[in-house]
Amino acid sequence: MKAILVCPKYPDALWMSKNAIKFIGKKSWSPPLGLLIVAAMLPANWEIRFFDLNINPLTDSDIQWADLVLVGAMISQQASAIKVIERAYGLKKKIVAGGPLFCPELIEQGMFNKVDHIIVGEAEGIFPKFLEDLSKNKAKCIYYSERFPDIQLVPTPMWSLVNLDDYAMVNLQFVRGCPYKCEFCYGHVINGNVQRAKTKDQIIKELNAIYESGWRSTIFLCDDNLTGNLAIAKNHLLPTIKEWMQKNNYPFSFAGAACVNLSKAPDVMKMMVEAGFESVTLGIESPNQASLLEVQKRQNINLDLLEAVRIIQQNGIEVIAGMILGFDNDPMNIFQMHINFIQKSGITNAIISLLYAFPDTALFNRLKTENRLIPYEIGDCVYGAINFRPVMPIEILTAGYEHVLHTLYSHEGFYKRMENFLTNYTAAPRRFRINFSNFVIVVRAMYFLGIRDPWRGRFWGLLLSAILKGRDVAIAYMRQVITWYFSNEWISRNMPLAQLGFN
Ligand code: SF4
Repeated sequence: MKAILVCPKYPDALWMSKNAIKFIGKKSWSPPLGLLIVAAMLPANWEIRFFDLNINPLTDSDIQWADLVLVGAMISQQASAIKVIERAYGLKKKIVAGGPLFCPELIEQGMFNKVDHIIVGEAEGIFPKFLEDLSKNKAKCIYYSERFPDIQLVPTPMWSLVNLDDYAMVNLQFVRGCPYKCEFCYGHVINGNVQRAKTKDQIIKELNAIYESGWRSTIFLCDDNLTGNLAIAKNHLLPTIKEWMQKNNYPFSFAGAACVNLSKAPDVMKMMVEAGFESVTLGIESPNQASLLEVQKRQNINLDLLEAVRIIQQNGIEVIAGMILGFDNDPMNIFQMHINFIQKSGITNAIISLLYAFPDTALFNRLKTENRLIPYEIGDCVYGAINFRPVMPIEILTAGYEHVLHTLYSHEGFYKRMENFLTNYTAAPRRFRINFSNFVIVVRAMYFLGIRDPWRGRFWGLLLSAILKGRDVAIAYMRQVITWYFSNEWISRNMPLAQLGFN
């Protein structure tokens, strides 16, 4: 059997800017982990070829070569995934699809009628059965994964299929699931509320495999919630990573997603730093308690969120915040509340989105019952689109959203926040080394921000303050300033200033 595995294109999104990727000399953000795991599950006697459309084009002759076209896609890859499916269908190829885009709600809507076989949910439990049926020519149209299969069945991703130098970072996943039930979240719907962790041997094998592939940079752990189960983090995951990093002389740095309970676990923060974690993305979502209550973000309620961020920063971990606008309980001054919160927190890069009802989430089901869903292109979610009728007039919400982005990502807003970050942050000593390509990126950034940019005085002033606090603070400063620069550039390019009294 000859098979091609296809990763569709990602759109040029605010938090995944294509200009930023070019600036750092890469071609895409990260290799598609799910497809590389699926590749490792295919029979050894199959001939396989891999196409990441963010890096290489897929020609008709590539499709014609294959007996089977396997497409794996996230929700944001919808437009490109549909094009790949149309092309393969036109060339009369058998198509297999999987990944979060291929969810029951969209299947029911008939969006993927040209796909021959769809794997819904986690592939590990069901993919061998599909392969067996396929070999007998009896494969079904849809395979629903058993609920939450054994994560210990997950093979090591087949890194040999990609050139890791093309990517800005690498994703790994060691734990699936999250005990919380935030209404808008798709992660706990697909991965469940009981965390499932890979074994120590699996984690070591995966770290060895990525090390042997030559990778020496950032690894993003795309676990749903690193601190969802503090006992797993403390007694299993972090000690394993820490031990491996010590043994291998600290070749990586780590980032991942956690929740604010981290601020109450000093031992976990300490272990994260020792294991090589530089940053965490925290689901803060809103500074408005009623909105948090509405979406069952219980872990953020009755907590001083600003203090929680400050504690994590003081323990040597940078915080990136996930923030959402558009909850039913958002008051009319919610935009200023977000601006005030983020400015005070010193979170230099906050990922701010409009609430989006992803299919099959509790939010989606509620809005459907309330007859509030509106027609949408699901992949639009990355552009700040909204797929339901909010309580606040939609024009005000959209304009307010743009106002928040323009304010926070302006030079003035960013550098003020950076000042707060430098006050709060205490860098932990890192052993991760700076390589030549990182050095080139820093020099280029100094040219753009320290020479060409009209705010160059502020850039150098704050860089000096960072250097005085130590090498690792200066590295954190440069990393954050580069990230901000391209968010600012993306916002100016894609979002004209809002007109509804916010300017
Ligand atoms: S804490 Fe995070 S991962 Fe867990 S349910 Fe809430 S949003 Fe999802």
